[in-house]
Amino acid sequence: MGLSRQKDQQASYPPRLGRAARGEQPKNGELAGAMPRRRRQQHMSNSVSICVIGSGYVGLVAAACFADLGHNVICVDNDEARVKLLCSGGVPIFEAHLSELLARHRGSGVVFTTNLAEGVEKSEAVFIAVGTPQGDTGAADLSYVEAVVSEIARSIAKYTVIVEKSTVPVYTNDWIRRVLHRHGVDPNHFDVVSNPEFLREGTAIADFLHPDRIVVGAGNERAAEVLRRIYGPLTSGSYYAKKGALPGACSRENPARLLVTSAQSAEIIKHASNAFLALKISFINAVANLAEDVDADIEDIAAGMGLDSRIGPKFLRAGLGYGGSCFPKDVAAFHWVAQQRGIDFQLLQEVRKINETQREVFFNKVLSALWTLRGKRLAALGLAFKGDTDDIRDSPAIDIIRKLLRAGAHVVAYDPAAMERAKEVLPPAENMRYAADLYQAAKDADAVLILTDWKEFAKIDLAQLNRAVHFPIVIDGRNLYKPEQMQAHGLTYVSVGRSAKYQAQEGKPRKAKG
Ligand code: NAD
Repeated sequence: MGLSRQKDQQASYPPRLGRAARGEQPKNGELAGAMPRRRRQQHMSNSVSICVIGSGYVGLVAAACFADLGHNVICVDNDEARVKLLCSGGVPIFEAHLSELLARHRGSGVVFTTNLAEGVEKSEAVFIAVGTPQGDTGAADLSYVEAVVSEIARSIAKYTVIVEKSTVPVYTNDWIRRVLHRHGVDPNHFDVVSNPEFLREGTAIADFLHPDRIVVGAGNERAAEVLRRIYGPLTSGSYYAKKGALPGACSRENPARLLVTSAQSAEIIKHASNAFLALKISFINAVANLAEDVDADIEDIAAGMGLDSRIGPKFLRAGLGYGGSCFPKDVAAFHWVAQQRGIDFQLLQEVRKINETQREVFFNKVLSALWTLRGKRLAALGLAFKGDTDDIRDSPAIDIIRKLLRAGAHVVAYDPAAMERAKEVLPPAENMRYAADLYQAAKDADAVLILTDWKEFAKIDLAQLNRAVHFPIVIDGRNLYKPEQMQAHGLTYVSVGRSAKYQAQEGKPRKAKG
């Protein structure tokens, strides 16, 4: 197939891009400050027209942040309901600062559509930010990426830089190039660049605008230059001097750093970074289990280790292990890549094994504290895979609640942001209820379980909690408290990597169950 561009037949919402995106003047009543794409571009010489495909945790954050850097962004998703919500002012995910950035740029710096062809035609750089979930073999399922690349191939009419932002195994860059060739796209019309994303959910906007590093895996200077322009406001520091810039670790004097590598190196940097962080978590959890057995305190041990500047304190938090949509699948995918290349990287298998065991270890703590679970009422504080997000993908909390339900327990859960998503996988039922706040969840509970490290759960009014529960037992999978604090409030406290502190009187029910 030559470069004849087939028109996208898919229904789109809105059917065409808004007037602002088409470079037309806004009419009366349109968003104040909404500036047509072409005029905006003329105003900012370094502005790049960008298409971001995927409006999930990465795509939406990238789209909002690129707009805040002064670029013109078309954000495409094939989920019509999601695009409709975004067009009408809604925000589909819980992420600090995202609503305000979208409110600032929606309709001017960033527009939303299902029309991928139009997004690609109008853009100099096209970022692929669709999901790369774990397949049956452990390998990343790249079918979403391939589907998007095939669609892009039908719409490229001029030189365009295709940027892989999704987390992908090494050589995906090559495959994207091959797919474009197979679709007959002129090799002079594109380059493929790897630009992995390192943001963390919960602090995604701050991470994106104040990155530790920006990695660009590019095969030539022409493509690298486009990425340098896109990230220019961060690497020159000009963004940080701008009114309304989100404050953070980078500044005009200490701007973001951009590292240009080969595509393969960039792809491996992402997988290796996530695998290394997962390793740190599994390592400290294994040490925690030992510490608990010999009456040592994992918090003291982690502090002592973390003060070594070669080790550092981050990711040395003992708990329920890692979860979420990245670490589990990325460790598996990296291990799969190594196996495919005949490299013995069993260490990654051990990292996974320790992580999976950690959830069992916690479940056994609940059993040790309560003996049997059938009919027991348990308060579950937390559903998200970590604090500050509504993401429940591979959440240890959800996994543990499922185990508790299977064992016959009745669970009353509370999470500041993730309850709606959780209800989709743990529908409300007689044995699975949701509470409006943590004290309501704890009412008449036989034990309170802390499953997610929300800040709110680290400052519970312990006297109020003690009045609410049936038995004063707290089983903390996130080590949010010092055992002495709990003891001072008459609460039995079971945590991770520290010996359990039982209260002498805890066996006596102090009031009848309501
Ligand atoms: P997500 O599931 O939240 O979002 C993916 C979006 O892509 C969805 O909205 C989906 O509808 C859309 N999509 C799928 N196919 C499409 C198509 N053909 N056309 C248009 N849109 C399509 O995923 P995410 O969490 O944003 O992750 C995206 C990628 O970024 C993954 O590879 C992930 O590993 C990586 N990543 C994620 C994080 C994170 O914290 N979530 C951090 C760094 C990297």
